[in-house]
Amino acid sequence: MDSEILIVLVLLATVVLRFAMAAGLAYLLVPRGPACPICRADLLPITHGLLSRLLSPLQHAWCLDCGWEGVVRRSRRGDQPRRALIEEVIPRPVE
Ligand SMILES: [Zn+2]
Repeated sequence: MDSEILIVLVLLATVVLRFAMAAGLAYLLVPRGPACPICRADLLPITHGLLSRLLSPLQHAWCLDCGWEGVVRRSRRGDQPRRALIEEVIPRPVE
């Protein structure tokens, strides 16, 4: 009797660990916000009320520049937009 319960617990633990590993990998594959993964512009957060509270590490966002819409990870620095180091490349005059 005890061995059957132990086998069930081990199998249940492997299933739970498999889902945890898949969820962790999926979380790492989501691009990090608040910059757009395509054009690096600032993203506009879209709130969904209860869903935003349940999935607080993730944020639904929309890019005003290129129209990209998707889910990004919330940054640990808060909602400060990440700026590109070089915003515009100005060509030098050729001599
Ligand atoms: Zn964009």
